[in-house]
Amino acid sequence: MTVPHGDPDAIRARLAQLRDGDLPTHGGRTLAYVYDSGIAEADALGREALAAYGATNGLDPTAFPSLLAMERELVAFAKPLFHAPAEAVGTVTSGGTESVLLAVQTARDARPDVERPVMVVPSSIHAAFHKAEHYFGVERVTVPVDPVTKRADANAMGAAITAHADRVVLVAASAPSYAHGVLDPIPEIAEHALRHGVRLHVDACIGGWVLPWLERDGLVRHQWDFAVDGVTSISADLHKYAYTPKGVSLLLHRTPELRRPQFFASADWPGYTMLNATLQSTKSGGPLAAAWAVITYFGDAGYLELTRTAHAGTRALVEGIDRTEHLTLASEPDSTLVAVATDEACDVFTISDSMLARGWFVQPQMAYADLPATLHLTVSAATAPLVDEFLRALQESVDEAVAGGAIEVDPQLRAAAVAIDPATLDDAAFDGLLTLAGLAGSGDDGSSTVTLPDQMAPVNALLDAAPPALREAMLVAFLDRLTRTD
Ligand SMILES: *Cc1c(COP(=O)(O)O)cnc(C)c1O
Repeated sequence: MTVPHGDPDAIRARLAQLRDGDLPTHGGRTLAYVYDSGIAEADALGREALAAYGATNGLDPTAFPSLLAMERELVAFAKPLFHAPAEAVGTVTSGGTESVLLAVQTARDARPDVERPVMVVPSSIHAAFHKAEHYFGVERVTVPVDPVTKRADANAMGAAITAHADRVVLVAASAPSYAHGVLDPIPEIAEHALRHGVRLHVDACIGGWVLPWLERDGLVRHQWDFAVDGVTSISADLHKYAYTPKGVSLLLHRTPELRRPQFFASADWPGYTMLNATLQSTKSGGPLAAAWAVITYFGDAGYLELTRTAHAGTRALVEGIDRTEHLTLASEPDSTLVAVATDEACDVFTISDSMLARGWFVQPQMAYADLPATLHLTVSAATAPLVDEFLRALQESVDEAVAGGAIEVDPQLRAAAVAIDPATLDDAAFDGLLTLAGLAGSGDDGSSTVTLPDQMAPVNALLDAAPPALREAMLVAFLDRLTRTD
């Protein structure tokens, strides 16, 4: 028998052609989603390991002891970075969201006595915690951050813990927050958690591979990791500032006992006994092997230098933004993330479109509660040498946005957006709304087809005017249609 086969070169060409439509993952001009060390040899090592281990299966560590060995080495590397005690344990997960989900699930299942469990989080906590609420039924009590510093308000969080005392199974805070790049007051929050005897998770998904080295240079404002009594778990993504290929994060617990409810086993079926520490069962060893290769390559000294580079780039960026008329920093960055707001003369959505036209991706963040819309900039080591060039493009984009004037959403549309209850909308109504927003058009046969407009600013401005529930519903409807194949 001959298996039919296609032309490998044609397949390679098509893969390359498809990638042409994506944001660049390397080169330092994409300031969200991707993290670039700028070191080609590390990238090559990561890719080789990813390919070599792509078909291995982390389902059973006794069948693939290589994966267990690499996981143990990564955890051993991370523990001293986070001042973890010797008995601390860790798990490699598929990403920040999985680490967060597991931290919440573990906290919930450690307290079977609590009927309606609650987690207390600052409003700046990553949406992965909202997902955990949705999946695991742990009610989220959200405490507004300080409107000026954008840091969690430890006293208000303490009050929220007291108010729900018997039901609180977890408190969480960020090091730093994604949206504003600020470090929450972990020592003060930990005092409250300790006093009530509840777990405290520090979400260092984005800061975990930066803060330990900034600390060496005395650049971290206060302790945030296991050095703080009361911190029980930490998440740190390797596919962010460890500059490894996608699909790897670490979840560390202070003691084996704290981790125990994270394990799942089932012998209650006719197949193999399922035994997992993660959400995935069968999981590729590729991302883990790639992370091991890249982290072993850079080592402590490499990350010290990469962190210094990214941090110096961030400072240069911050100074440039400070000098730019119409722009303000939404917060004083505590690591390598910058959030930028505009004055009335222009808007972040138009600026982000203009930047994209100049070859730079910056991520617009919509207004939330009393916090203004901002541009999110994640500064990788590879971006640092390009900061002057970035600032020139930013100045041109601001000039262009000011010349065009701040984008206006039709007041009637704005009023309608606030009045709509998304729960009452049917499919046809969503088609209409998506068309109105510029995210869909009519096909030749009159059917509605989704499109990605060239200019995202009008779409973003309209979504920005919509309350979060409508924004969510519209984007879900959009994604639903994007992924249909008929
Ligand atoms: C990125 C991030 C997450 C989620 O991680 P994913 O890898 O995207 O799943 C959670 N928390 C923070 C602070 C993050 O920056």
